[in-house]
Amino acid sequence: MNTQHKIFDTHAHYHDTRFNQPTSNLPPVTTLLDTLFSTQISHILNVGTDIPHSMAAIALAEQYPGMYAAVGMHPSSCPTPHNHEEMDAILDRISALADHSKVVAIGEIGYDFHYDDVPRSIQEIWFSAQMQLARKKDLPVIIHDREAHGAVMDMIAQHPGVRGVLHSYSGSAEMARQLVSRGWMISVSGVVTFKNARQLVEVVSALPMDSLLIETDCPYLTPEPHRGKVNHSGYLTHTAARIAAIRGISEEDVCDRTRENALRFFRIPEIPSNT
Ligand SMILES: [Zn+2]
Repeated sequence: MNTQHKIFDTHAHYHDTRFNQPTSNLPPVTTLLDTLFSTQISHILNVGTDIPHSMAAIALAEQYPGMYAAVGMHPSSCPTPHNHEEMDAILDRISALADHSKVVAIGEIGYDFHYDDVPRSIQEIWFSAQMQLARKKDLPVIIHDREAHGAVMDMIAQHPGVRGVLHSYSGSAEMARQLVSRGWMISVSGVVTFKNARQLVEVVSALPMDSLLIETDCPYLTPEPHRGKVNHSGYLTHTAARIAAIRGISEEDVCDRTRENALRFFRIPEIPSNT
């Protein structure tokens, strides 16, 4: 493996329409990805938020040896099913997509109590059903937790056989310690570079290094000093540098350790391969 290729971006949405727009000030997404994979990025996990976006995430993953996909229904995308058959049909679609060779996780799933546009009872039905699906498929879950820490911890406790990662972690250090003791992972986004990231800084310094992943959540959550621009994996160097400063280790160590953690956690072979 080329030692120049260092960072595993564990949460991205390169199929998002914010890419491929003149206003993004970025090259077309395929050109952007070619550049990223030939410079500082080794792997990207492209994450779905509903059926069409999960299919788009897989289609992009098929084009790059280092790109993988997650499939699932985001809490803010959950439809209100009219009956059991309708719900089962959608879950069967997710289950079929999860069988693709480049799919390494179910996600993103979870709770969003900030945008309460989907009733919490509906979010709960989908969250629970997809936790069961992950267990059946023996895949980890990627959890979106926005202002729902207690409810997320309750759901995790109800599904002890499921392992996962909390993406763009926003909870307390104490909650993170509980998750890590269950074998869960904590993923740190560019939010750690923000001035008001006091709690996340505490989390990053408190946890064992082998429980940490890094992510962009691009096109969202652009780190300092690029806030206001469309985010992409190239900016992860700023996130890694901040984590290195917090922990008193080198930026290279942060990249290597978080990449090794991601490869182990998502069961991906070190050498990218499309086979
Ligand atoms: Zn996301």
